[in-house]
Amino acid sequence: MSGLLRIRWAIAPEIAPRPLITCNRCGGLRPYRSSGKFRVNANGKRIDAWLIYRCVDCDNSWNFAIFERRNRRDIEPALLAALEGNDPALARRHAFDAAVLRSHVGRIEEFPDVAVERHVLERRPEHTTMLDLRLTLEMPVPLRLDRLLAGELGVSRSRLQAWEERRQLCVELDARALRKPPRDGMAIRIDLSDEPDRDTIVAAAGA
Ligand SMILES: [Zn+2]
Repeated sequence: MSGLLRIRWAIAPEIAPRPLITCNRCGGLRPYRSSGKFRVNANGKRIDAWLIYRCVDCDNSWNFAIFERRNRRDIEPALLAALEGNDPALARRHAFDAAVLRSHVGRIEEFPDVAVERHVLERRPEHTTMLDLRLTLEMPVPLRLDRLLAGELGVSRSRLQAWEERRQLCVELDARALRKPPRDGMAIRIDLSDEPDRDTIVAAAGA
């Protein structure tokens, strides 16, 4: 398969979900966003840790519990140091954990914006006729696979649909994958041998 080009896309969400909270200062439901700062409270042997959120309109704060009343002995020293030092990677990981956030507040706003880093895995064949895209995700993104591919490859979703119907586009192990969010480790194969604009699409996939 000399015309096969393997590319890895590392996908990361760009905007953290925002909990919708009844703001007692604004007097209504407002989105709150992560401040990136933790608050750690020690009460004897018991420790609480929260990620602090602020109302986008009035800056009022809301504490998102990371843990509460946990025994100091049960907390890794490295974790405690990261919390006390407002470690940006730790704050990001909690801020992007949409499932936990939703379970705390009920309603959240999510954003489909993602950053895609492209890594061409092998030397590009002279005439690329087949794309093999490997997706890696550090965390879930609230975005359908067809919207991701359409945006990144510069093709319409109806064209992707037509490719899928003609089996020109295959997603490993999941026939209905286009309508669902991408998953870590997903592999997508697209046969472009009959597409007149294939060089443009290949460039978009790996540029
Ligand atoms: Zn407010």
